[in-house]
Amino acid sequence: MTRYPNLLAPLDLGFTTLKNRVLMGSMHTGLEETKDWNRVAEFYAERARGGVALMVTGGMAPNAEGGVFPGAAGLFTDEDIANHKIVTDRVHENGGKIAMQILHAGRYAYGPDCVSASPVKSPISPFPPKELDEDGIEKQIADFVTATRRAREAGYDGVEIMGSEGYFLNQFLVTHTNKRTDRWGGDYANRMRLPVEVVRRCREAVGDDFIIIYRISMIDLIPNGSTHAEVVQLAQAIEAAGATILNTGIGWHEARIPTIATSVPRRAFAWVTQKLMGKVGIPVITSNRINTPDVAEDVLAEGCADMVSMARPFLADSQFVVKAQVGRADTIAPCIACNQACLDHTFGGKISTCLVNPRACYETELLIQKAETPKTVAVVGAGPAGMSAAMTAAERGHAVTLYDRDSQIGGQLNVAKQVPGKEEFWGLVDWYATMLREMGVTLELGKAVGATDLTDYDEVIIATGVVPRDPGISGQDHPMVLSYLDVLKHKKPVGKRVAVIGAGGIGFDVAEFLVHEGESLAENLPDWMAEWGVSDPETHRGGLTPGGAAPEAPAREVVLLQRKAKALGKGLGKTTGWIHRMALRMKNVRMVGGVNYERVDDDGLHISYGEARANPEVIAVDNVVICAGQLPDRSLADVLKERGANCHVIGGADVAAELDAKRAINQGVRVAAAL
Ligand code: NAP
Ligand code: SF4
Repeated sequence: MTRYPNLLAPLDLGFTTLKNRVLMGSMHTGLEETKDWNRVAEFYAERARGGVALMVTGGMAPNAEGGVFPGAAGLFTDEDIANHKIVTDRVHENGGKIAMQILHAGRYAYGPDCVSASPVKSPISPFPPKELDEDGIEKQIADFVTATRRAREAGYDGVEIMGSEGYFLNQFLVTHTNKRTDRWGGDYANRMRLPVEVVRRCREAVGDDFIIIYRISMIDLIPNGSTHAEVVQLAQAIEAAGATILNTGIGWHEARIPTIATSVPRRAFAWVTQKLMGKVGIPVITSNRINTPDVAEDVLAEGCADMVSMARPFLADSQFVVKAQVGRADTIAPCIACNQACLDHTFGGKISTCLVNPRACYETELLIQKAETPKTVAVVGAGPAGMSAAMTAAERGHAVTLYDRDSQIGGQLNVAKQVPGKEEFWGLVDWYATMLREMGVTLELGKAVGATDLTDYDEVIIATGVVPRDPGISGQDHPMVLSYLDVLKHKKPVGKRVAVIGAGGIGFDVAEFLVHEGESLAENLPDWMAEWGVSDPETHRGGLTPGGAAPEAPAREVVLLQRKAKALGKGLGKTTGWIHRMALRMKNVRMVGGVNYERVDDDGLHISYGEARANPEVIAVDNVVICAGQLPDRSLADVLKERGANCHVIGGADVAAELDAKRAINQGVRVAAAL
């Protein structure tokens, strides 16, 4: 008897059957733009082999004006169709099904030719859209139909029509962006005419035996967004127009409420999808922050949806479903919802991959193959770099010993997991423990190794990490001064008024830790919703609480400082930095840039501003916490090199600047793959 009876149950769509209830949601990986169609095909084929029932591609533009950016991929030519056929054939050969997402960005299209219902510029794009006239709207519908027809020709099992997240079709639905007075605007029946017409005509064009998923915005999270009654009205009309499945979209891109970041509670929006259950006859999919088979099973067992969509979890582990099927969910690499290597890459114009799994989107390049000659390998340091190197080397058949002077594995991940909203790191460390055991890595913990302990190994990998940078501030030996490790690792008591020196990732984390007390909001959905101002779209339009966010009072009064004169938090993740900044602002954290640290004494932290050391100020605090960055811990590597020993230095021990777990894990896996 499987532990996941609902998740693994087939779903009969009439003309075809899905083998389980798992959809791989659409992700823009950037692979199509490489034009390496073998690479694109392998990305999807590996996931088809991993057992997922149905995959949705990244968004394909139906026309030039609807592309997310100028030149965005679409099925425009016969050559495009032939290229996509390589992908669909490979997926089918591997037992999978795949639908192509048609994404018309409307006013979110990052180009001067963008179009929408009305000329209302979006706050996240500099380009005001052109208002479409009747002919223009007809052209857009025709382009959706052409894209659907071409998708079928290219061998896709279906299409997903993107109607949520504030994209083109969504823009017609709400008065926030639709100011029209013709038959495409005004009352709700008129505003929903376009998405319904698109689905109706696409269905007409391809016949009954082709999957049409409509991604519906269940909760807009913007002012004047849809009500639940309107969502139901639309869903029923979309069903009548011929959609096969309704997928859930949560929040517009311009919403100021996090919807998929790691600080969002797991399955935070399943209740919104559940509200639609029983009101339509076609299957309904839920999504957002579902990242384990257990969470997915619970969501289905509770009747929140007929299927679950997970996207990023399939970057972290392509074999998610197969591992759940064989009862080894503990070996599934967890998506920690950090966005660091997926969405941040997409928005940075880079190919997506995954912090936890650097092979994601590099399936044809980064190969983990059995070693021709098994070697003995010592890895020193059980942080993310060392653990990944040890695990990968052992997977290849090497005999690996992993040393750490600490009594537990995890390194800096154990520090990160203390921060409220970063609870997913606990699961990541647990996964490493499982995999190191599984791969037969010998653990030598609580042991500080020296160069002489390493002489008998064929290969030595040094992953000794970092040491905190000494900022050399006058008075820093005052008892009120603590390091971030004192706070996050050693849990030293911290007073009610705190100055945090350094506003990098760790400074922000420490500030977040200090302003919270008690249960993390990521573990308490009602409190998280109240904090961010999310409510039921049945009672409040768009699901926004009137009066907005209602954050709990901060546990401490915190001042966050940096020497640079620019805004704090500029170097944080592209897609998550705003959340960290907003979360601290909601806790009244004072953020101060352009300072000089003059000294610390009994009165507190003395600062001045700018090169002129002007406006001296004393910040009266109980504690000062130093988060001034880190330096590589290369002491062991230096001794080995002096002795002429050959060793590989990775992670923070290699380069500490801008170190994060993404680079550490990537380097660890790649070093081990080449041993
Ligand atoms: P960091 O990002 O390099 O930030 C160091 C901070 O210390 C900066 O604000 C810097 O600002 C300040 N600083 C540098 N030298 C100083 C000195 N001599 N005296 C006083 N202040 C000094 O380092 P981190 O915060 O330790 O983070 C380490 C890495 O972990 C980062 O690369 C980060 O990406 C990663 N991390 C990421 C996250 C995340 O959420 N993604 C969270 C935690 C850590 P000024 O020079 O302007 O003063
Ligand atoms: Fe998940 Fe982070 Fe990997 Fe993206 S990079 S798939 S969010 S673990």
